[in-house]
Amino acid sequence: MKKILISACMLGDKVRYDGGHHLIDHPVLKRWREEGRLVPICPEIAGGMEIPRPAAETQCKFPILITTQTGEDVTPQFLTGAEKTLEIAQRERVSCALMKAKSPSCGNQRIFDGNFSGKLVEGSGVAAAELMRNGIPVFNEKQLNELFAFVEDSERIPA
Ligand code: SF4
Repeated sequence: MKKILISACMLGDKVRYDGGHHLIDHPVLKRWREEGRLVPICPEIAGGMEIPRPAAETQCKFPILITTQTGEDVTPQFLTGAEKTLEIAQRERVSCALMKAKSPSCGNQRIFDGNFSGKLVEGSGVAAAELMRNGIPVFNEKQLNELFAFVEDSERIPA
């Protein structure tokens, strides 16, 4: 059975910038975890950031610039985290990823607009984008049914 990458905060790890988590309590995820199929990663911790840490948002996509609200440039840490996320995903040969929506690292569809005002814009976090660029589909917590259908389909295809 193929493995699935997952944002560590969604497994209850307290790795969020504010020391919290985003546990998703779902029987399928619980079963996958018991079967050893989930590969947890927090790209921001993998990139060398600490808990707690200031919130950060994407200011510019091309070239990429991610800063805290006080203007500290944290782009290098985010890029390192994205590289490490891809390395782990490829090493573990995951079929796809379940990543936290809206995060500047893990968001797959929309991210905050850079003004720290809660407004969202279309776009992906850097780690999610790196996975998708390399052919690894990324789902968020609002897309669990799509994720489950994808995993079921991919298991019909011989590895
Ligand atoms: Fe969760 Fe991703 Fe943020 Fe880490 S970087 S706390 S895994 S959303």
